[in-house]
Amino acid sequence: TTHLVWLRNDLRVNDNSALWAACRSRHARVIALFIATPAQWRQHNMAPRQAEYIWRSLRQLQQSLAEKGIALHYHQCDDFAAAVSYLQDFCRQQRVDALFYNYQYEFNERERDAAAERLLSQQGVTVQGFDDSVLLPPGSVRTGNNEAYKVFTPFSKAYRKRLRAGLPECLSAPPARTEAPLTALPPLSPFDYPRESFDEQLFPVGEAAALQRLRAFCRQPVLAYPAQRDFPASEGTSRLSVCLATGTLSPRQCLHRLLREQPQALEEGAASIWLNELIWRDFYRHLLVAFPRLCKNQPFAAWTKKVAWQQRPDRFAAWREGKTGYPIVDAAMRQLNATGWMHNRLRMIAASFLIKDLQIDWRSGERYFMSVLIDGDLAANNGGWQWSASTGTDAVPWFRIFNPTTQGERFDAGGEFIRRWLPELAAVPDKAIHHPHDWAKKNHQRLDYPLPIVEHKAAREQTLAIFEAARKAS
Ligand code: FAD
Repeated sequence: TTHLVWLRNDLRVNDNSALWAACRSRHARVIALFIATPAQWRQHNMAPRQAEYIWRSLRQLQQSLAEKGIALHYHQCDDFAAAVSYLQDFCRQQRVDALFYNYQYEFNERERDAAAERLLSQQGVTVQGFDDSVLLPPGSVRTGNNEAYKVFTPFSKAYRKRLRAGLPECLSAPPARTEAPLTALPPLSPFDYPRESFDEQLFPVGEAAALQRLRAFCRQPVLAYPAQRDFPASEGTSRLSVCLATGTLSPRQCLHRLLREQPQALEEGAASIWLNELIWRDFYRHLLVAFPRLCKNQPFAAWTKKVAWQQRPDRFAAWREGKTGYPIVDAAMRQLNATGWMHNRLRMIAASFLIKDLQIDWRSGERYFMSVLIDGDLAANNGGWQWSASTGTDAVPWFRIFNPTTQGERFDAGGEFIRRWLPELAAVPDKAIHHPHDWAKKNHQRLDYPLPIVEHKAAREQTLAIFEAARKAS
């Protein structure tokens, strides 16, 4: 018999549910397949840096699978529909008896998988899917009324309770199937998709590097996480998001490693704060399954469809390029454009600025982030944008509006982060860094830095008015 593992965003040999299940029978021939779908990726705005990350990780994965005696095949076609027909052909050619894969929860992905299951079953192939990119399967943690949780805090409480009752298993890599590693590997040609280089010091490529980063983080830095995580100038967070988004690391590996180093993490203390972030990640995935409209450019809160967003391409361009005249927003956007990653606090500040200071539709920001983030992930990105826009489930109330200047003063007081990304403010003293033009005027200096494109107080009033009008209209 032949077992096929269809790999997608689960690019690892450790704790890979589908791979593990495919290898359970000693006698089966096990092969793996990755199908690149550039046209689909374009439609989903995948960032060129993420494409590059996947490409580099795939090459490493082919080696690790070869060491286990498993050949990773590769094919490129246009989109998901083409991928399904290729999969059918491949199963015929290779005489596949059973297909194993890990679920993806986005709408197009689920449609693709449903089509694949249907067609392959007709072909006589047994198909098995697994909940693998989450700690607990979507739909498995529900309220007393058997509904999906819409608020995070009770969800997180129920989640922890379930985890305390029994941890999800973390599987090891399957044992090697052949005595010697495979040597003749199927060809792996680069995707026909724009790729952009990134810094491997910042974003560990492949699972060994991801595990090493995870171990180091759970040993010490996790203890300083609650105190450090909001300050973009310090390396206070794990930077494991790209690994989790592409599956070079699993959330169960994170949980087990965290508990090994910090056994009280399910109860309380610094480490439990980091665990909470992993639960946020799952929360947004569970929401995608419970409310598929989240994948279709729809707000969760229907009344917010009536908000009269502004069409201001000039302002959108200033935001995108980091030229709004608000130093913390601009430094954030330049970090994103230069590295493909942005600190969580800054994602909230930059998103809030676009939506609540510029009154631009959150979906333009969501799309732009996706097209640049190395860790772009529909569930987390949509969740973060809908949170910021007050259109989501457990979102910030619409009348609470971040002040970008005070946010900067609180989270980058001396301007250490701002200076890293805005060299044009080098001469401005620390105390004036959040109001550089006031300082320049007083000191008769010229700054090569834009004036604020909007005045926050006035912008805030306009935003309150358009939200108020939308509420009244619905
Ligand atoms: P850590 O603080 O070390 O957290 C550990 C892990 O938990 C992260 O790697 C991530 O997988 C998960 N996580 C942390 N915070 C969140 C959160 N708020 N929601 C969901 N998961 C979380 N995260 C993405 O992975 N991809 C995105 O496309 C994305 N877009 C975002 C857009 C906006 C507007 C906002 C406000 C947040 C977004 N986030 C996104 C969430 C968060 O900002 C990143 O996960 C985090 O900054 C990644 O850095 P880290 O790995 O050092 O995180």
